[in-house]
Amino acid sequence: MSNSLRVTIWNEYRHERSDPRVAAVYPDGIHVALANSLAAAGYTVRTATLDEPEHGLTEAVLAETDVLTWWGHMAHGEVSDEIVARVHQRVLEGMGLVVLHSGHFSKIFKRLMGTTCDLKWREIGERERLWVVAPGHPIVEGIGEYFEIPQEEMYGEFFDIPAPDELVLVSWFQGGEVFRSGCCYHRGQGKIFYFRPGHETYPSYHQPEVQRIIANGVRWAAPVERPSLAFGHRPEPIEELIEL
Ligand code: ZN
Repeated sequence: MSNSLRVTIWNEYRHERSDPRVAAVYPDGIHVALANSLAAAGYTVRTATLDEPEHGLTEAVLAETDVLTWWGHMAHGEVSDEIVARVHQRVLEGMGLVVLHSGHFSKIFKRLMGTTCDLKWREIGERERLWVVAPGHPIVEGIGEYFEIPQEEMYGEFFDIPAPDELVLVSWFQGGEVFRSGCCYHRGQGKIFYFRPGHETYPSYHQPEVQRIIANGVRWAAPVERPSLAFGHRPEPIEELIEL
C-alpha cells in the first residue's frame, strides 16, 4: 500500500455536536474516527468540516488532496454550490472520491450521478450482512465472502443510481431488504466509490472490516499519473495519408 496518498476526510460534523447519542459513539466526530483508521493504514490524512471557511475545501487543500472522503446528512443544502463545483472539477481531473452512507444525498454525489440517488430507509438497529460480489476487486482485499455489522440503519432498493461500473458489495438486512452497498464509478479521470455503512448512532466506523474497505477504497480511487485530457479539433492526422 502506498504511504504517500494524501486523504482529506470531509464531515458535516453536526450530529456529533447536537445529539449526545452520536457524541457517545464519535466523541471527536466521525471525521476523527475515520482519520485515525486511515492514518493507521499509512495514509497522510487531514480533515475538513462544513463550518470551516469554504467548508475546509479551499483550492489549496483540494490541490493537495489525492482522495476526498465525504460524510454528510442533515445539512447537504448548506454546502455551497461554488465548493461543489470545485470538488466536481477536481474529480473530473482525477481526484478520487469516497462517498459514505448518507452522502448518497450530497450535492456532489447527485451531481456526479445525475439521478435522484433516493432509496428506502428504516432505523431500528437491524443486522446487516454485506456480501462480496466481486471477489477479485482490490476494495475487498482482506475481506471474507461476507461480513456482518451487528446493528445498522437499513437502506433498501430501489437505489436510484446509474448502474455501477463495478458492483463490489451487496447488503442484506434482517428486515428483508437488499441494497447495492459498494459501488464504483468513473467520471472523467476520477474514480468514485460509494460505501453504504456509517449511520451516526452506530459504531460502524470502529469496525475493522468497515475500516479496511474504506482504506482499500481510498487506494482504489487514487489518481494515476497521466497527462490531463485533451479534446477538440485535430486538423493534423497522426499518420501521413496516401491518396490511392
Ligand atoms: Zn443514516
